[in-house]
Amino acid sequence: MLRLPINHCKNCGAAVQYRLPDDGDTKERAVCPACGTVHYENPLNVVGTVPFWGEQVLLCKRNIEPRRNKWTLPAGFMELNETVAQGAARETHEEAGAQFELLGLFSVASVVRAGQVHLFYRARLLSDQFDPGHETVEARLFSEADIPWDEIAFTTVRETLVHYFADCQRGHFGVHEFEVS
Ligand SMILES: [Zn+2]
Repeated sequence: MLRLPINHCKNCGAAVQYRLPDDGDTKERAVCPACGTVHYENPLNVVGTVPFWGEQVLLCKRNIEPRRNKWTLPAGFMELNETVAQGAARETHEEAGAQFELLGLFSVASVVRAGQVHLFYRARLLSDQFDPGHETVEARLFSEADIPWDEIAFTTVRETLVHYFADCQRGHFGVHEFEVS
């Protein structure tokens, strides 16, 4: 999931050099020696939901790499021209074909090494019937005791589920911020 370094200028195609830009910036960037374009690379947002039906949570078995056949919450990269909440809802429709009401933000995770921020909202399912898209082998509900903890695709999903079931026990849902390396 780590991003490859930039090799060529997005503006003119010349080979770039990684160096400090001339404007006082203190981080090395891919700088184009031909046209002077400085390429800034910043974290990407991954947005998704914790869809719940009573005591159960909806997980999707991935039909795509990475982590094919592992279980995940519905989530994916945020697109341009949408809000965080719109992206989370879109991914939930696309990956699970679920009908739901989007509730509040639940977890925010900095995935430092991958250069990503993962954001999950709670989503109240309005039906227990699902129509998953091509990225999903199977979408089904799990109670806490049945969660396949060793088969969860991503650390942020596992941590979010741990927080979710702990909050269920407390009877109160907060916003959880954490980091994974
Ligand atoms: Zn250039």
